[in-house]
Amino acid sequence: MSSTPQAPWIAQQLQHLLAQRGHAWLLQGPSGLGQYELALAMASAWLCESPSTQGACGQCPSCHAIAVRTHADLAVLMPETQMLALGWPLTEKAQAEIDDKKRKPSKDIRVEAMREVVEFAQRTDARGRGKVVLVYPAERMNAISANALLKTLEEPPGDVRFVLATEAAHQLLPTIRSRCQSHTMAWPDTHAALAWLAGQGMDDAAAQALLRSAGGRPSDALRQTDSGQHPAWWAALPKAMQQGDAAHLADLTPAQAIDALQKLCHDLMLRQAGAEPRFFMASQLPACGASVMALTDWFKRLMQAARTAEHPFNAGLMLEALANDAQQVLLARG
Ligand SMILES: [Zn+2]
Repeated sequence: MSSTPQAPWIAQQLQHLLAQRGHAWLLQGPSGLGQYELALAMASAWLCESPSTQGACGQCPSCHAIAVRTHADLAVLMPETQMLALGWPLTEKAQAEIDDKKRKPSKDIRVEAMREVVEFAQRTDARGRGKVVLVYPAERMNAISANALLKTLEEPPGDVRFVLATEAAHQLLPTIRSRCQSHTMAWPDTHAALAWLAGQGMDDAAAQALLRSAGGRPSDALRQTDSGQHPAWWAALPKAMQQGDAAHLADLTPAQAIDALQKLCHDLMLRQAGAEPRFFMASQLPACGASVMALTDWFKRLMQAARTAEHPFNAGLMLEALANDAQQVLLARG
């Protein structure tokens, strides 16, 4: 199916969910816990020609069609940037618009894509196992798309099932939440997460450091290595920021840089409160006299920056401004 073997905690949740009834599920929880992986595993099991209580067989024509991203009875509704990142094909029309530079891939779930899904839900299934609509991240629907989906959820044409995955359930319409059965993603225990990361080819020390920097979320830890955030880089981040070294952020997108700085800010707040830091080792944090108030203000500025980080005027300038701001806070004498 997918090249990454299924993590044991995803497999457990899958078994639990498949044993229950329900035509619309909402998988919710913070990022990095594997919502997407679980949603896709559910969709695969529902469409599989010889599923077991463990999930899809991985061998049948239906499983094969999902593996190569061309299953006629599976509609995947995602922002186009996400579809491209996860290897799902766009519609011919959308791909042509992007190829012709008429527009950039969307970062939200487009209303046009939702309309196609509503039509898909009305059609007869092609393979006789019903149809599935997978929506991820569901909070990326705007009000129009969400209402269009809501209508289909309220009056499902019969043989269609839904699995919505979200990292921000509070941003969904309450009516959508109430139409779905909800599942809260389980946190894997550290031992299982480390074993899984080792299975992805990561050595022990790296796995431990990355799991820590990802706040215990294994999928995020794996994503961090993919974006060049290695343990040594992470360990050096706090002091680099205190020295105003913007180049340390150079390989990151503004959104990744903001996420990293929020973790640093969070740990400095914990230290102020006399608690153990969560994302960094205590020895990696620089001496810094910033008050709780100054740290809180910094956190607010980072949250504000996060709102524009996906459409930065100039990514390089934004990274420099972020590093500059961090340095001001970290040099405070209290
Ligand atoms: Zn199968």
